[in-house]
Formats: sequence, structure tokens, C-alpha cells
Amino acid sequence: MLRVASVGSGSKGNATLVASDETTLLIDCGFGAREMLSRLDQLNVNISDVDAILVTHEHSDHVGGVAAVSKAAGAPIYATHGTVASGKLDGARSIIEIESDSEFVIGDIEISAITVPHDAKEPVQYVFKHATQRVGVLTDLGMVSPHVLRAYEGCDLLLLEFNHDLPMLRRGPYPAVLKRRVSGDFGHLNNDQALGMLEAMGESAPGIVIAGHISEQNNSVDAVAALLNPLIQRTEMKVVYATQSQGFDWIMSDSSDAVSQVA
Ligand SMILES: [Zn+2]
Ligand SMILES: [Zn+2]
Repeated sequence: MLRVASVGSGSKGNATLVASDETTLLIDCGFGAREMLSRLDQLNVNISDVDAILVTHEHSDHVGGVAAVSKAAGAPIYATHGTVASGKLDGARSIIEIESDSEFVIGDIEISAITVPHDAKEPVQYVFKHATQRVGVLTDLGMVSPHVLRAYEGCDLLLLEFNHDLPMLRRGPYPAVLKRRVSGDFGHLNNDQALGMLEAMGESAPGIVIAGHISEQNNSVDAVAALLNPLIQRTEMKVVYATQSQGFDWIMSDSSDAVSQVA
């Protein structure tokens, strides 16, 4: 059994927890140590429970608090060579370099690091396996490459980026250069791209989807929910929305009963 919770999700800070009975992993930490401690408290997690911090890439909404939190947790950081070379993890207690598209084990959880198209030095996202359960975390990518699609097929639960609604981004307040970056092939997934990925998976689509990294400026939960509704009706897929302020509470990867916020 794997459990997943979000400490917070969005352009101001991301942190996700994936845990078995024995092992607790933190994926990214864009929050400062003090804020992180109070948010972990709300999820009934003690900082010393965290066994390792896995970093996806060096953007500040993902690494802002990693070095400080790794010290508070007494836990090592796992990151690719490119992410480490960015210098954004300097001051961390201990760093273990991983290779893109490699597999490794922490405690009783098997982990795959998946290369994604995003404008960072050497970005990866992660798939977690424990017994028969598979959980994917996939945010911060500009397009769904065939490599990404294959890697995330067959997940029981998937935290997937629904970053922006393309028309909202186009008419929104961002400067032109930022609009191009966000919507480009190495930026972020828009709602249609994320939906397209789920539809392309067909039978191997996840039973539970957590829509995350939703832009507060260029998207809304209502827009994502309206888009996903036909797919939910057709497949009985469960959908939960991760927010910037609250993330989401613990969800079991194999239990739809545990989904409190079913769309
Ligand atoms: Zn990023
Ligand atoms: Zn991000």
C-alpha cells in the first residue's frame, strides 16, 4: 500500500509525500523550513519521519526549502547531476546523485526517475512502486513525450500537472516572454495536454488522478473539472485537486473510499 499527500502545489511552492508503512519520501520542497513544519503537522507527519528528499529540478518552487528541510529531517537528498550542478542545493547535509532514467530503492519503495522536457538543467519526475501499487508524480513538463507516456502507463494514482488553460494564459497578465515560456515545449502542460495524456493511456490510465500545479493566474479548478467531466463519467476515474494553500490530505493509492474530494 502506498499513500500520497500534498503539502502544497503550484508556482509558489511544491512538496509531495509518498509513503509506505515503513518509508516516507518527500518529493521537492518549495517551502521554507518553518512553513514546512507547520504544513507537515497538519498531515500528521513529523519531520524526522522523512527518510529522503527526492528533487525533480532546481526551479525555486521545488528546491526553495530543500537544503534547510534536509538538515531538519536528517535525511539525504536525491537529485540528478544537472540539478546538483545548478548550485541550488548547496548547503544541503548530504546529496546522492542519481542518473536520469535510472531505477533505485529507498527503504521498501522502488523508484524510477523519468526524464521530462522542461527548461531546467537535468529535470526528472518520479514513479514509485511498492508491492502491486504504482504511484506517479508528474509536473513541470512542456509536452507529453512518448517516453513520458510509456513511463507513466499503469499507475494506480497519478499526480498530474494541469498548469494552465491556454486561452486564459493568452489573455492573462503575464508578459509575452513568460507566456511563450509557460506554453512552450519545455514549459508547462496546459489542461488539454494533460487530458490528452490520460485519454492516450486508454485502459492503462490511472484510477485516481490528482490535478496539481494549477496556476492561480491562468487556470482554475472549475476549468479543469469541466474539462475532465466527460472522462470521469466514462471511466469512473476519481479526481482530486491539489491547491497552493492546502495541497491535499492523505490518499491511499488503491482505495477510492479515501478520496474525499471526488469531482
Ligand atoms: Zn519547473
Ligand atoms: Zn514548478
